[in-house]
This record gives sequence, C-alpha cells and structure tokens, in this order.
Amino acid sequence: MHPMIHAARDRIRVAYDPDLVRTFGHYMIDQLGEYFRQAEQCAGPVLPWIEPQTNVRDAAALLHTPLGGDASPGVLRDRFAELVEQSLDRSHRLHDPRYIGHQVAVPSPIAGLFDALTAITNQAMAIYEMGPWATAAECALVDQLGTQIGWTPGDFSGLATHGGSLANLTALLTARNVAVDGCWEAGVGQTTQPPVILVHGDAHYSVTRAAGVLGLGTRQVLRVGLDEQRRMDPARLADRLGQLRRAGRPVIAVVACACSTPIGAFDPLPEIADICQRFHVWLHVDAAHGGSACLSTQYGHLVRGLDLADSLIWDAHKMLFVPALCAFVFLRDRAHRFETFRQDAPYLFDPTAPGLAEYDSGMRNLECTKRAAAFGLWGLWSMFGRSLFADMVDVTFSMGRVLYEKLVEADDFVPLHQPQCNIVVFRHMPGALRDAPPDRVGQFQLELRRRLVESSEFYIVSTKLNGVGALRTTVMNPLTTADHLDQLLDALRRHGKQLLA
Ligand SMILES: *Cc1c(COP(=O)(O)O)cnc(C)c1O
Repeated sequence: MHPMIHAARDRIRVAYDPDLVRTFGHYMIDQLGEYFRQAEQCAGPVLPWIEPQTNVRDAAALLHTPLGGDASPGVLRDRFAELVEQSLDRSHRLHDPRYIGHQVAVPSPIAGLFDALTAITNQAMAIYEMGPWATAAECALVDQLGTQIGWTPGDFSGLATHGGSLANLTALLTARNVAVDGCWEAGVGQTTQPPVILVHGDAHYSVTRAAGVLGLGTRQVLRVGLDEQRRMDPARLADRLGQLRRAGRPVIAVVACACSTPIGAFDPLPEIADICQRFHVWLHVDAAHGGSACLSTQYGHLVRGLDLADSLIWDAHKMLFVPALCAFVFLRDRAHRFETFRQDAPYLFDPTAPGLAEYDSGMRNLECTKRAAAFGLWGLWSMFGRSLFADMVDVTFSMGRVLYEKLVEADDFVPLHQPQCNIVVFRHMPGALRDAPPDRVGQFQLELRRRLVESSEFYIVSTKLNGVGALRTTVMNPLTTADHLDQLLDALRRHGKQLLA
C-alpha cells in the first residue's frame, strides 16, 4: 500500500487507542465525582455567568490550538485534562440544589453513565441490527412505561424521540393522517374547509409549530378557553366542538395538557376524553412534564384519564431524571403505528425478514439514525425500579407546595397560583412596589431575576402571566430542601433592595 496511507493510519490510530480511552476515562470519572460532590454541597456557582462572546472566544481558542496526532501520550493527557476542567468550570451546574429553573432534568449521573456506554460504542438505531441491545432496551421500556399509564402491552405502541417537540409533531402527524384520509400521499388541502386543531390555551409552542410544519397552518390552531386555574374548560371545549361540527370544519385533534408549561396546570382528562369520544375526535395529551405523576401514589390523581388519550408524549429528560434528549410518544391503538410515515425505504427494511420491521425504529420515527436515547433510563430503572421515580416525583412536587406556603406566609411575596406540581410562579413585592403600576412591577421581576442569575447564587427563570412579568421556579433537583428555598427568598430580598436603591 502507498506509504502515505500507512503514515496517515498511524496518526489516526492514536484517536482509537484503548489505553488512552482507559486513562482519559479514569481521569474524567474522577473529575466528575468531584464536580457532583461540590455541586451537591453548593460549593461554587450555580450558573457561572460569563457573557456569550467571552465563552465563544475561549472555546474557539482551544479549537484553534489542537495538538495533532503526533503529540506524546503525556502531552495529550494534559490537554485532555485542560479540556475537561474548562468544560466543567464553564457548565451550568444543575446538580446544585440552588438550581430551581427550567424544566430540564437534574439527572441521576448513573443514567448518564449508561448513555455514555451507547454513545461511545455508537449503538445508533433506525434498524434493529445497528443497535440490537439498545433497541431491546427501548422496546422493553416502552412496554414498562405504557403499563404505568394503564395500558396492556401488545395493545399500544410507543417509541423514544429526540425530545418532546418532535414527539408532539410525530403524534399530531399520525392524528392528521388518520383524520384526513389520503393526505400523506395527496397532501393537505383535500378537504373543502381547512382542518383545525383545538388546543389548551397555554399549549406549548411546539404544538403550534407542529401545525405549521404539518401544512395545517398556525391560524388553524384554535385555543380553548381556560378555567380560573388555567386548565382547559371542558364546557367550552364541548361548545367549540359543537360549533365546528355545525360549520362542517374537520378537527384533527384536541390537545390537552398534563401539565401546561406556564404554571403547571393539569387538565381534567376524563371529562375532556369523554367529550372527544362523543365527537369522535382524536385526543392528544401533552404530558411532557407531568406524565411521570402516574408513577406516584400521592400525585397519580393528577393524570387520571391519561390512558384515555389516543396519543400522548412524556419527556424522560424532564421528570424521569435522565439527561437530554429522551422523550416518548405513545399511541393507544397499536393499529395506528404505521400511519405516521407510510413510505418504504427498501435499503433499510428487509423483505426476507418482514417481522423485523416491528423492531426497526426508522419505520415509525422521524429520525433515521437515532441515538440510543432510552438507554440511560433503561439502566436507571433496571437498577432502582419504579420506586425511585415515584420518590423523585413526590419529593419535587411536594417542594412546590412548601415553596407556595412560604410565599403565602411572607408579606413581601405573592404566589400567582396554587401549585399542583413543582412549578411555582410568584412575584417579589417589597413595600416600595405596593402601589406601583403593573408594568413597573413586572419589569422589577425581570431585572431582579437577571441580577440573581448573574450573581451565580441561584438559578430561576421568569415568565409573563397576563402580560405582567413574574418569577418562575421549577423544583427539578430532588436534593433541593426547604432551607434552600428560604435562602432563595432571602437572596431575592437582598438583590431586590440593591435594585431599588
Ligand atoms: C418541555 C415541554 C415540551 C417540549 O419538549 P422538549 O423536550 O423541550 O422538546 C412540550 N410540551 C410541554 C408541556 C413541555 O413542558
């Protein structure tokens, strides 16, 4: 062979060197152990606030000074250490109990170890053969989760997707194909009147996006009125469906929430399902955040009726405490599983073993090549079982209530709803703001949150409720205690005072 190829292969070989994997791996695991110890003890910043321009510059500096393949193992090891340290130092430390921000899981690191196993060995999916064990883990997990929802294995179908947004799109695509006969082949626009989707008034933006992507048009997304607790009002849903029926408008689906994003409101699913059955309309439940409530004895009542949904989504990278991305889409009736995508890809799906198509995720997934997204959850569940997840739901949801009670007791804080789960929205109202107009009050909350986050003491987020700014917290870390919540209110008071001065 050409000597140039030999030289190139020798340079490549170092990137695959098993001894380096072992050395680097041991080093990284030791660093991670220390990272988790520090984070859990609140030693150091939550979000080390650095302007994006600075971070991009520093990331580019490392990228522009690689060592090359002929560096000695010792030099490579030092470089690896530098990259790992820099990455951990600059990361958002979700495992710090003062992380009380977005609905992103504070995952068990053990799930991440299982993820690393399939990432490093690249058990990519699409067809069974490319990731047989990862596929098996996903199939077994889908059966397990579906059973928890209240279904019988064999009756339903489900799969892991790269996130809830894609899961919503997949479910609504299926609903569209079932509701409008032939539209996969002929396109939308076959019906005399444009079909609509009826959604919860606070539905996640991925639902509206799905309507755009599916060619239905975002204007055909109709919002159903909410009750005083911002839940979908079944009476208004029934009225709306009645009007649409009389007007001859096709309805693709009703989209309910368990729970909604802004304040974590759980819809009355049995009533909504009953109405949908009466009108023969597909019920999709967006249970991205709240699906895990079905694992809890204490909070299971919040998702009563989840099993009546025609389709639902459930994000494991939220309340099943595994790293992103891992979400699930479920179809109650297994017969619908090949309605989502109807074309063949002959180079993927083998006619000599047609039964295998059941295990080729590519038949039902928007993704072709797919990360072994469910493997971390399979590992974690296989270690600890359902009770771990039930405990984590119980603890985090209960801490939402604890925070609410603290807000009620304090005379300088106002909770904006009674939390049903771990999402709590509130405002800080020091005396100086008592008589301020809503604009000023809202602006204060947003500025207060920026100050708090840039101080790196806590991480919380903001939202607008009825157009006025508010503080929003989600207790995502099962290690966040009542003491941390007291410290949060004190930190807000301190930063609020500085802001007003
Ligand atoms: C988070 C969330 C989504 C989007 O899920 P991703 O995994 O972030 O894509 C959709 N709906 C609801 C109710 C959510 O909470």
